[in-house]
Amino acid sequence: MIFADVIIDISVKSLDRPFQYIVPEEMEFDIDIGSVVKIPFGIGNRPMTGYVVGLSGEAKFDVSKTKSILEIMKQAVVVESHLLSLAYWIKENYGSTMNDAIKAVMPVKREIKEQIKRIIYPAVEIEKMKIKRDEFEKKHNSARVRLLDEFLKLDRETYNAGLDYSYVTKKLRLTASVIEGLRKLNIITVDAMQQYRNPVERTDDIPEIRPVLNGRQKHIVDAVLNDYITDIRGTYLIHGITGSGKTEVYMNIVEKIICLGKQVIVLIPEISLTFQMVDRFYKRFGNRISVMHSRLSAGERFDQYTRAKNGEIDVMIGPRSALFAPFQNLGLIVIDEEHDTSYQSDMPPKYHAREVAIQRAKMVGASVILGSATPSVDSYYKAVKGRYRLFELNERAGNAVYPKVYIEDLREELKAKNYSIFSRRLDELMRDRLQKKEQIMLFLNRRGFAGSVSCRQCGEVIGCPHCSVALKPHMAGGRVSYLMCHYCGYKIPMPDKCPECGSIYISSFGIGTEQVEQMVKKRFPEASVLRMDADTTTGKHAHESIIKSYSEGGADILIGTQMIVKGHDFANVTLVGILAADLSLNVGDYLAAEKTFQLTTQACGRAGRADKPGEVVIQTYQPEHYSIVCAAQNDYKDFYKQEIVIREMLQYPPISNILGVLVLSENESSADNLAKILADRMKLYHDVTVLGPTPAAIAKAKDIHRRMIYGKCVDYGILCSVKNSFEEFMHETDSFKDCRLNFEFNCI
Ligand code: ADP
Ligand code: ZN
Ligand code: ZN
Repeated sequence: MIFADVIIDISVKSLDRPFQYIVPEEMEFDIDIGSVVKIPFGIGNRPMTGYVVGLSGEAKFDVSKTKSILEIMKQAVVVESHLLSLAYWIKENYGSTMNDAIKAVMPVKREIKEQIKRIIYPAVEIEKMKIKRDEFEKKHNSARVRLLDEFLKLDRETYNAGLDYSYVTKKLRLTASVIEGLRKLNIITVDAMQQYRNPVERTDDIPEIRPVLNGRQKHIVDAVLNDYITDIRGTYLIHGITGSGKTEVYMNIVEKIICLGKQVIVLIPEISLTFQMVDRFYKRFGNRISVMHSRLSAGERFDQYTRAKNGEIDVMIGPRSALFAPFQNLGLIVIDEEHDTSYQSDMPPKYHAREVAIQRAKMVGASVILGSATPSVDSYYKAVKGRYRLFELNERAGNAVYPKVYIEDLREELKAKNYSIFSRRLDELMRDRLQKKEQIMLFLNRRGFAGSVSCRQCGEVIGCPHCSVALKPHMAGGRVSYLMCHYCGYKIPMPDKCPECGSIYISSFGIGTEQVEQMVKKRFPEASVLRMDADTTTGKHAHESIIKSYSEGGADILIGTQMIVKGHDFANVTLVGILAADLSLNVGDYLAAEKTFQLTTQACGRAGRADKPGEVVIQTYQPEHYSIVCAAQNDYKDFYKQEIVIREMLQYPPISNILGVLVLSENESSADNLAKILADRMKLYHDVTVLGPTPAAIAKAKDIHRRMIYGKCVDYGILCSVKNSFEEFMHETDSFKDCRLNFEFNCI
């Protein structure tokens, strides 16, 4: 007898373990690890869906009481077994349910039928068709007349191209039997052709201009491939400034890996960048590449999934979820812009794509290449420590040079009675560019929008005395009533004066892109403006069309958030304005300086990419902050040196690890009690430093109270055991049935 371990498709922690079922004899040949099955569950034997995660010949319980699987779901997609192990790893390392983890590794869940397009062709000449039409009319056969009329409306050239079947049935309202009747009379034929759902296929055949690699690029390609053919698999970090030719390096390595019969996943931070990357890969590799992202239709997605599974493609490109492309022969994962926050999943399972990629690669014997102009402190630290191999590309591949960068102190602007959002320098340079017909990008740092309270006079940001992060404003009665630290819970009422200089000009800071657009239009009425943010990019091709329009010179000024600084290549942009660079310094987490440095550096990288030299204006209240100064000087290493000292001092990642435990309950006192008990239990681990409990950043959401406990520990494994012991506690205790726990590792 065969038994299957089944995870029930329901995200409830108490049911998040395998249940054993008997595999009926007739299913023994069809069942597999990863199969999706229908099983009877609970006292009422309610049929539920489940995933088979294990098969064995041994019963764990009394066989007479074990239930049998009802059915193997034929339409469902079977998860590769190594992806199931990966799901288990995700569950263990990030504290999600197994069910959520399985869902994450299955970007496609259900089979979507192949799309068949049917065409109705005329089987007779036009003259004969006319005769037939009149015959049918005499017999009052109006449905037949409708179709033949439709053919007769076509001119001689399009006549033979036929009519779409669904158009005929839906618009002309012909039934299938009427069509069949005409077919039998040999007046028409019906042809079915498979409609290939291929989201990347291009018809324009612009040949690729393939640059010859320079020495530095060649060195990286050779080193990685040398390792590869001598069976060394590793993680490589390419620290290369924007435009230094990283993508060219990826493509050269990918080409060789493919020749070895292996497949490659290329991750990019967001959908808006797919277009560019796909374009370059398509030119080199043609139809052997594909994409996977959320804007594809369900059918398109299913087809790409199937093609990957069947080995019909070699390269899968896409954001985070493309990491789970079901390749059987994975040889390499490339993560471009590896520092990007979009690789961190913000829904359960809260995994980091970079870490999961490295784990998947380890499981199947693949290598990983990370690339960035501004590597995450985490990756760079690992590279410095020798766990990743580090390469550098310090010069731009083309002939462009780093722009001239001005740092404008917004406090000085205020002193000079300039109350606008444009510093005098930015204003002057914008007028200059508009007059020269060169393009301008204005970047608004949205990270940390209204996330802090600062003084417009001296720039002081009100911070926590214990944690060196900004205090977050909390609203009550339509205004900011108090400020609180989200690490330790320290709380003060909203001050009415700046604690540093006594000025009354303190406020929670933040303006939106829409307001910026208004202000630009008012100040520069002759300029044409495009805006790119979450609001203007909702449609399937919205990103592409804004980018395309701007790159073709469709507007003088592009205003946007993070989106516009990532990777886009515009030849005619010679001025970039960063409106409030330090907004992200005040978001109140340990990554603030790192994010500010990255965003600012990337924004600088957008100016002057071709033959025209560029200029950048960074507006800030903290012109001396190392994240801004280092970005302006394009000095990553100096930034890293200063940042790692602070991480070291405060025991933040990557020096140490942080586990965040979120306690959720409708009942406030339950949440408080449980949080306290867990914090005390955490203190029993001597290597763990415990912070909290404290109300979470959002202390109450939809009437659920939220409490937070943080544990810091150098050893990630110890934090995992803390998590496991908490899960066990929740499983065993009866006192906190009204509470739930969520876990977060290294992301606050
Ligand atoms: P990155 O990915 O680091 O931003 P890219 O690979 O996109 O850099 O290269 C930037 C530009 O320089 C591209 O237009 C690319 O075609 C070109 N390029 C890359 N390598 C070379 C080279 N060795 N010689 C000439 N041009 C190159
Ligand atoms: Zn002040
Ligand atoms: Zn604090």
